[in-house]
Amino acid sequence: MPFENEHTLQKFITSKEEESFHDQYEQAIRDVKSDFGKQYPLIIGGTKIKTDSTFTHLSPIDTRIVLGYLPRSSVEDTRNAINAARDSFNRWRKQNYKKRIEICRAGANVLSRCKFELAAWLSYENGKNRYEAIGDVDEAIDFIRYYCECMETKEGYSTLTKSAYPAEASRSVMKPYGVWGVIAPFNFPAAILIGMSIGALITGNTIVLKPASDAPIIGYKFAEVMEEAGLPNGVLSLITGPGAQLGQEIIGNEHVAGIVFTGSKKVGYEMIRRFNKTKPRPIIAELGGKNPAIVTESADLDEAVQGISNAAFGYSGQKCSACSKVYVQKIVKTEFVEKLVKRSKSLQVGNPLEPSTFVGPLINVGAYKNYQRYTTLASRDGKLLVGGRINRSGDLKYGLFVEPTIVDGLPEGHRLLTDELFVPILCIIVYETLEDAIRLCNSSVYGLTAAIYTKKKKEIETFIESIESGVVYVNRALSATTGAMVGCQSFAGWKGSGTTGIGAGGSYYLTQFMQEQSQTFVSTK
Ligand code: NAD
Repeated sequence: MPFENEHTLQKFITSKEEESFHDQYEQAIRDVKSDFGKQYPLIIGGTKIKTDSTFTHLSPIDTRIVLGYLPRSSVEDTRNAINAARDSFNRWRKQNYKKRIEICRAGANVLSRCKFELAAWLSYENGKNRYEAIGDVDEAIDFIRYYCECMETKEGYSTLTKSAYPAEASRSVMKPYGVWGVIAPFNFPAAILIGMSIGALITGNTIVLKPASDAPIIGYKFAEVMEEAGLPNGVLSLITGPGAQLGQEIIGNEHVAGIVFTGSKKVGYEMIRRFNKTKPRPIIAELGGKNPAIVTESADLDEAVQGISNAAFGYSGQKCSACSKVYVQKIVKTEFVEKLVKRSKSLQVGNPLEPSTFVGPLINVGAYKNYQRYTTLASRDGKLLVGGRINRSGDLKYGLFVEPTIVDGLPEGHRLLTDELFVPILCIIVYETLEDAIRLCNSSVYGLTAAIYTKKKKEIETFIESIESGVVYVNRALSATTGAMVGCQSFAGWKGSGTTGIGAGGSYYLTQFMQEQSQTFVSTK
């Protein structure tokens, strides 16, 4: 069956049933509340284990809401999870790939059935508004179905090759490595966590999954979904707790064959160094970004404003692909900035459970303090055009809400122009020639997403030819730099934004989880 993107909201809109979308989300919000404050177990080798030591998981919407108590796994728990994954590897790798596809597809179907419930959890866990939350769950479903399709199209990555000599028959077979550590970020607790997990599982590896501590419940729900879908015990073990401590054990354990990680450049780089200290092992790391958009004098400024503000302030700037810098050609700067400030002011900051909210809360107190530090720096070294304040009005005072912020006039090389901030701050930089703008974009240590708005064909060609980013968009009003769709826009980080140069949701992704074996058979008389 050909892969089709889940596209939930779009389908409700197309069939003129948008109201039903809202009803289902709101019902799910009411339903998940009855599960608040539960204690969650670890899952090791199929057994659910409650630990004495737990951490309290609060909602960034309102930190008085206790979403659950999650296990603070120990090093021993982590070791047990790795051993369980080792024990189940032989059985799982020998499973016909068609059976693995069948289980993963069943998982996608369960997720699709309970997507509103998951989206509601997601809103409470990491503060995404309903549209972003359902998009996150949709993307997870898409990853599963797309990777099933890749596996199927490639017939399990086994292919006949040329014969070297008349009596020989040869083939190439891709085989799994063994146990993989899957370490996920907070910002796409469904899509990225599930995409990485399925990448490892469908190719025959077994996994130890560690969700981010700021959004661990979706990870637990996924483990339950896969159990329901028929994944054998031990193939997926789930641990939660402090990343540094558990990560240390995953990275240092000689029985871990590979790691798939999405997170910050700092944590990723250190992980790569330590994981390969004693022997080379595969590590797929998708890292941060500092994503630019270029607005030329020929651009449709309304489209550029819409795309750039959506990309900069969607999910409060907490996407790896968030637009954080705009290079605008001098002649159109005043008009563009006026329009951009006007639209940014109109974006509603508020409780993400409300349908009209665009900008929800920041994920945690660390991010909240970072925002305050950065905006202080912005007003000291540049000019704040809009925003710059935390929002403590009404019930928002119980959460971590801040205003979308635009800064102008920072000097070249300023840290707000070079560092990934991961809060809703967008910097404006003026340029004279396109070559200058591209040179400045490319001076970044990151190379994840980038955009251009122009009506000139030659400028599009120059941009595409020279920009150093894994994902590029031209004249996209929907969003300048965010919103890649699985199977359509593979998501690869260049330079400091990733380690393999291969994109999630693209046709090369699965090969990273396997090693090639060339098999030659000589016919005997
Ligand atoms: P993070 O690096 O702080 O944490 C990511 C994961 O690593 C978490 O599960 C965390 O517990 C764990 N961790 C933390 N310290 C560790 C250590 N010492 N050893 C092992 N594991 C450790 O990132 P985050 O704040 O959760 O997510 C935001 C970051 O992720 C941003 O930099 C963003 O750009 C990046 N990101 C990248 C992509 C991409 O596709 N390139 C997608 C989403 C997010």
